[in-house]
Amino acid sequence: MSTFLLEIVTPEHKVFEQQVDMISVKGVEGDLGILANHIPMVTPLRIGPMKIKEGGKEHWIAVHGGFVEVRKDKVVVLAESAEMPEDIDVERAKAAKARAEQRLAMAARSKQDSLDFRRAELSLQRAVTRIKVSQKEW
Ligand code: ATP
Repeated sequence: MSTFLLEIVTPEHKVFEQQVDMISVKGVEGDLGILANHIPMVTPLRIGPMKIKEGGKEHWIAVHGGFVEVRKDKVVVLAESAEMPEDIDVERAKAAKARAEQRLAMAARSKQDSLDFRRAELSLQRAVTRIKVSQKEW
C-alpha cells in the first residue's frame, strides 16, 4: 500500500509526523477518508476523533477544529489543539463535560445568551471527543 507523510500541527507544537497508509477525519461536510495520491484540497474539520492507519497499527487523536490540507507531497492537519490518547487526562475531560452540560442547561433555561450556549456546546464537544479518543471510539 502506498504511504504518505502526515503532519498534525497546533499553534503550540507538532503532535504527529509520520508516513501513514490512511486517515479518517470528521470534516464539516461529513466523514472523510484520505489515502495516498488524493487530489489536493483544503477542508475545515469539526471537533472530533481522527483515526490513522499505519503498517497494521491504528492511532487515535482528538482534533479540536482547524482544517486538513491535502498537498502533493504531504497531508497537513492544522488544529487549534490536538491530543494523543496517552496525553488525555480523562478525569479532567469528564469534569469539563459535566461543567459544559450544566452551562448548557442554564443557558437553555435563561433563553438569553446564545454566545454562552455556543461556548458551552464547543466545550462539550471537546470533552466528549477526548473521552471517545481515550476509549478509541469513533
Ligand atoms: P478544560 O476546561 O479542562 O481546560 P478545554 O476544552 O477548555 O478544557 P482547551 O481550551 O481545549 O481546554 O485546551 C487548553 C489546553 O489544555 C490545550 O493544550 C489542550 O491540549 C489541553 N487540554 C484540555 N483538556 C485536556 C485533557 N482532558 N487532557 C489533556 N490535555 C487537555
